[in-house]
Amino acid sequence: MSKKVTFYFLITVHLAITGYFWWETSGIRIHRGTTAVLLAFGRLSGLMLASMILLQVLHMGRARWLEGAFGLDQLARLHRRNGKWLTIFLIAHPLLLVLAYKRSSGLTFLAQFLKFQVSFEDVLNATIAACLLGFVIAYSVLMSRRKWDFEKWYWAHLSVYIAILLSFGHQNGVGTDFLGASPVLERFPDLTWFTLYWYFAYAFIFTSLAWYRFISPLKLFYTHRFSIQKLTQETPDVWSVYITGNNIEKFRYTAGQFIIVRFLARGYYWQAHPFSLSSYPNSDHIRLSIKASGDYTKTIGKLTPRTKVYIEGPYGLLTAKKSKTNKVLMVAGGIGITPFRGILEDLGKVGKNVELIYANKTESDIALRTELEELEEKYNLRVHHVLSASGVGASFSRPSSGNQAGDQGQPLQSNTTFHTGFVNNDLIKQLVPDVSTREIFLCGPPPMMSALLKTLPTLDIPKNKIYFERFSL
Ligand SMILES: Cc1cc2nc3c(=O)[nH]c(=O)nc-3n(C[C@H](O)[C@H](O)[C@H](O)COP(=O)(O)OP(=O)(O)OC[C@H]3O[C@@H](n4cnc5c(N)ncnc54)[C@H](O)[C@@H]3O)c2cc1C
Repeated sequence: MSKKVTFYFLITVHLAITGYFWWETSGIRIHRGTTAVLLAFGRLSGLMLASMILLQVLHMGRARWLEGAFGLDQLARLHRRNGKWLTIFLIAHPLLLVLAYKRSSGLTFLAQFLKFQVSFEDVLNATIAACLLGFVIAYSVLMSRRKWDFEKWYWAHLSVYIAILLSFGHQNGVGTDFLGASPVLERFPDLTWFTLYWYFAYAFIFTSLAWYRFISPLKLFYTHRFSIQKLTQETPDVWSVYITGNNIEKFRYTAGQFIIVRFLARGYYWQAHPFSLSSYPNSDHIRLSIKASGDYTKTIGKLTPRTKVYIEGPYGLLTAKKSKTNKVLMVAGGIGITPFRGILEDLGKVGKNVELIYANKTESDIALRTELEELEEKYNLRVHHVLSASGVGASFSRPSSGNQAGDQGQPLQSNTTFHTGFVNNDLIKQLVPDVSTREIFLCGPPPMMSALLKTLPTLDIPKNKIYFERFSL
């Protein structure tokens, strides 16, 4: 909580400083008429636009202190939401300034716009930057609607950095509020207190970006020299990748967290994907369990032992630390079981009473089954398997067919009860009648998550007792 407060405090300080310098040069003149109003708000929207861009970089910069407050998934959502404000300022800034200048020049809107481009080199750069930003925003909106290729979108997104570079000179070169502030030193009139602050804000954000996105993961890689130890097939669609390295026990994570991995092999270099750690912290390996759900994940089984692995993280706030009471219900859909594997162990160790509802299409899709059965034996845990592909409503009992995993020890001789249908409030109440007295952990495919997040509160479960992770950034 205090990290969030610090973050909002920093934003307030930034807005106060920016607002103060804007007011001193432009805001104070708004009583002079329409042109002054257009100029002042045109400049303010420019300052806000630059601030929003910096905020967007900060959101995606994977800074530890910020991730610890929000989690990467929530930061990604904030990033998308801010994109809308950014678009408004992107349009308002040139629009208001051209309208202001055309009032005194008598030119048409287009002629005034073009005059700006030829009169100042920095404005032309800024226009190119604005086009790049507009392209990225349009691409992002279309991609979220049409589910275009994530990787192409990601690379297109990088053009934002070119836009930032192009627009930086524009701000300090022609930004009246920067030039209007008092100089730091008489000998350098262009270096005003506001410019100095602006340089500091950029330096802070880009140092943080460089540190957390590049230097820190490189350090991690050279410390541990991660590589694939082995691969095992858990189900027809799920492969577990065991990763080891020097002093692997010193790679510290909390069960339930995730990492962003890049396999350093031909065909994999250019892609980094997030996966939960399906292992419990130990001194031998870390493990990912990956479901073939797209072009990239379908090829995981082709990776080979000793392949080097570049890791960013660990990230994520969905851990046993969330749990404050003694009774917990966990609902996992398909590969959503991965973060729960370790969390179950942490909850079990402190004696919590845990019910796990684990939904899959068919019995053969159940991943990590033997491990779950072992945990069930060891701790105060009950697992309810729900299968969606065997008809709705019926419930049947059959002996466990064991596990398909190559490396999880002998299958246990337990009787497993399977329930069929889809996980909804009725089924949850049937399986766990005291659900309203429990905290809920939720992880699964987006349709299941959205449906349950809407309906669970109607079972008298307060929203702040539902902890979840979406498998999308
Ligand atoms: C926090 C978190 C934990 C996850 N844990 C697991 C796990 O334990 N096991 C598992 O199988 N899957 C997990 N996923 C999902 C996994 O990251 C995606 O299934 C995988 O990236 C899809 O890649 P693809 O190219 O095969 O599929 P595609 O069909 O290309 O992509 C499917 C969707 O995955 C997302 N995606 C694709 N590429 C990336 C990328 N490079 N970075 C971020 N998102 C991307 C996009 O939303 C895309 O729409 C997790 C995701 C997140 C965010």
